[in-house]
Amino acid sequence: MKEISCKLLVLGAGPGGYVCAIRAGQLGVNTVIVEKAKAGGTCLNVGCIPSKALIHAAEEFHKLRTAASGKSPLGLSLEAPAIDLKRTVAWKDGIVGRLNSGVTGLLKKAGVKAVIGQARFVDGKTVDVETEIGVQRIRAEAIVIATGSAPVALPDLPFGDNVISSTEALALKEVPQTLAVIGGGYIGLELGTAFAKLGSKVTVLEAMDRILPQYDADLSKPVMKRLGELGIEVFTRTAAKRLSADRRGLFAEENGRAFEVPAEKVLVTVGRRPVVEGWGLEEIDLDRSGKFIRIDDQCRTSMRGIHAIGDVTGEPMLAHRAIAQGEMVAEIIAGQKRSWDKRCIPAVCFTDPEIVSAGLSPEEARAAGIEIKIGQFPFQANGRAMTTLAEDGFVRIVARADNHLVLGIQAVGHAVSELSSAFALAIEMGARLEDIAGTIHAHPTQSEAFQEAALKGLGHALHI
Ligand SMILES: Cc1cc2nc3c(=O)[nH]c(=O)nc-3n(C[C@H](O)[C@H](O)[C@H](O)COP(=O)(O)OP(=O)(O)OC[C@H]3O[C@@H](n4cnc5c(N)ncnc54)[C@H](O)[C@@H]3O)c2cc1C
Repeated sequence: MKEISCKLLVLGAGPGGYVCAIRAGQLGVNTVIVEKAKAGGTCLNVGCIPSKALIHAAEEFHKLRTAASGKSPLGLSLEAPAIDLKRTVAWKDGIVGRLNSGVTGLLKKAGVKAVIGQARFVDGKTVDVETEIGVQRIRAEAIVIATGSAPVALPDLPFGDNVISSTEALALKEVPQTLAVIGGGYIGLELGTAFAKLGSKVTVLEAMDRILPQYDADLSKPVMKRLGELGIEVFTRTAAKRLSADRRGLFAEENGRAFEVPAEKVLVTVGRRPVVEGWGLEEIDLDRSGKFIRIDDQCRTSMRGIHAIGDVTGEPMLAHRAIAQGEMVAEIIAGQKRSWDKRCIPAVCFTDPEIVSAGLSPEEARAAGIEIKIGQFPFQANGRAMTTLAEDGFVRIVARADNHLVLGIQAVGHAVSELSSAFALAIEMGARLEDIAGTIHAHPTQSEAFQEAALKGLGHALHI
């Protein structure tokens, strides 16, 4: 058996793992990274990037179809447009391929040794990797577990055939005529909306009493309205049961009422689970926090010398959290003093319209016993939003009533994902309403709604 030794071994090359390895390499730490599939993990191969490519293609196609229907308010018209999903998917795969090579190149540039294969702990300092050419044993002073997450399956609707997860949905070669989406969280709604825009008849089944339950109703309402406009039927308090005998339909139950939904494909997006199996957790017996690996504010697990980062460590399961943890842990291993001191992890939902949330919502602030002021500004009163047919939605700022410290910022509207960094920066830097109100925001931009929301919180918005 071949053996190598290193200071740091990273298991999994998703955004958490590969960033950790690159940063460690930059800091001169002798680093090895092991990946069983492709560099970039879920995010780059079957998550964030390919889903946003599909959403963009679907949006472009939908605009063409609107023009072809003679309903374009801009006065555009054209003959019947068509989509060749095989070419769309090939374009998306091209982007993924470029990013794969980019990550591989960055690891190389940072001096990181990459090993392809399934890793498995032998003990707290030793890992065996099943590679194409046999087992490679790696001994390391420190190990970072970054094995990520995988889609949750439903026992009565296991993946296979026409029951698919987001991974298969992103690789379909033809637009299904009918699509049933089980789960009205962000992944189901992002993909459901994209397929509706590509021409599928989409039905969403959600067990809770509303879609996007992690966002408050004011934020999810414009999304709900748009789903209706796109012809997407949404059933809440509804449980998906089983496929029909011809496997072209899905039985569901709402308040004891059974009904059938047409479903050439059934997309199951009921959540993701941490990957805690297949790499030998039983050999090292780490403490857990529910299904996840328990970590402290330096991402240390219950075993000395072993850190864990990213989706395997809990919510929010987002790429930028994994990246920030990866960078921090690399610096800790290189001897720097670091601990998790972030004030917020912004979350974006790439639905139509988009939702952004950073920091505390009004309910969360009130539940923490804080007296708050809320400044909210609608895009209806924003000139740029009018020129881009993007008047639905608003920006909302939650601030302390006493000193106006900004606690949370939320927005729903067209392209508001691009405001997320301004929101996070304001919270991270401890901005007060006066700081945002006193910053000149370029005109005409949607970001002016952010400044106006701060002015509204101070009681003197200018344009409403
Ligand atoms: C459809 C979809 C859309 C998403 N959209 C967004 C978005 O817009 N924004 C966002 O922030 N997040 C999004 N996410 C979530 C995001 O992809 C994850 O939060 C992120 O990828 C987590 O990174 P990670 O490094 O923890 O793990 P992962 O990216 O899951 O990577 C883990 C890696 O470890 C490897 N691995 C596992 N076990 C082993 C082993 N034993 N040996 C070797 N290698 C192993 C896996 O092959 C994988 O490559 C989306 C997810 C999905 C599914």
